[in-house]
Amino acid sequence: MKILDKINEPVSKVKPYQPGRPIEDVARDFGLNADDIVKIASNESVLGVSPLAQQALVECMADLHRYPDAGAWELRDKLAQKMSLDTDQFIFGAGSNEILVFLAQVFLAPGKSVVASAHAFVIYKILTAMMGADFIEVPVKDGLQHDLEAMVKAITPETSLVFVCNPNNPTGTLISQEEIETFMDQVPDDVLVVFDEAYAEICLGEMPDTLSFVKKGKTCIVLRTFSKAYGLAGIRIGYGMANAELISELNKPRQPFNANLAAQKMAVAALDDEDFLEASIKAYRDAKSYYQDLCKEMQLEYIPSYANFIMIKTGNGAVICNKLMALGVIVRSLQPYLLDDWIRVSFGTETENQTFGKAIQTLRRNNEL
Ligand SMILES: *Cc1c(COP(=O)(O)O)cnc(C)c1O
Repeated sequence: MKILDKINEPVSKVKPYQPGRPIEDVARDFGLNADDIVKIASNESVLGVSPLAQQALVECMADLHRYPDAGAWELRDKLAQKMSLDTDQFIFGAGSNEILVFLAQVFLAPGKSVVASAHAFVIYKILTAMMGADFIEVPVKDGLQHDLEAMVKAITPETSLVFVCNPNNPTGTLISQEEIETFMDQVPDDVLVVFDEAYAEICLGEMPDTLSFVKKGKTCIVLRTFSKAYGLAGIRIGYGMANAELISELNKPRQPFNANLAAQKMAVAALDDEDFLEASIKAYRDAKSYYQDLCKEMQLEYIPSYANFIMIKTGNGAVICNKLMALGVIVRSLQPYLLDDWIRVSFGTETENQTFGKAIQTLRRNNEL
């Protein structure tokens, strides 16, 4: 088609994001029963949807003919109180992913650059390519950790954004408060540091207090989401917290009703669901020990994770993922992250984790691993 010659050049070169495969797809491809398939591939909530959020969905159902509140005021007020920030310091999105898009639209163009760690969330690379900006990828330290010192050194006068994913997806590594403080002292103040904290509420270690930098007026934004901790991945709601002036610029590309009505109501309710959060964290702690024990027993290398997933070195991740799928277990291969020898497994219920354990042991027994 001739029209394809007119595609914006940066876009034509983009390699699209590969999401985890839906259960129905895998069932069809491998001739399996969908009910027997375990999907632990997208870091979704182990306990499903927060019950308080479910109730809020039922309650708002008859109002869904209305447009949502474009300012998301109920959620905004609640979060402002919880985080001790002003209401004009928030921006909402269809997942925190949409806020990453706004950041790209506002701050990236040909001639500008992004600094991020190797093996960090792959969306940063995709969005940078989409805008025709340069992606400066900084090698990791031992243990696949972000090397913040090297990241500071990689910043050039053209750099507008630096992404810090903490805990990082897919490695699960966590950066300490001390490292972040040193880093923030060194980053020039015309560079925006993006703290992508999708797992903050369920972090299995000590989460650094990055909001303190927002409060001190540093050039940074903190991104959070309801997708992971609160089990709202399917309804799409996330937010960013930053200086009010910066937020008003980020609002320019935002369409007024991007945060949908049900998502706003469910998010408000989810914030009160402390029992759900507590039970989730407990399940993740248990799962973490299960997987670490399993890896030790099978002599498989793994990266100790501070989020609700773990990276395991199986060799040839794409092949292993396919073999696991044939056994009814969906996990993620990490080729887009240039981690070909690894797979990423999300923490599931006890039964789901054990199903993975049995499947991987089957592969070992058949000399396929
Ligand atoms: C899951 C995830 C997101 C985005 O999630 P949304 O569903 O768009 O809120 C952002 N960053 C990281 C690191 C993630 O793992």
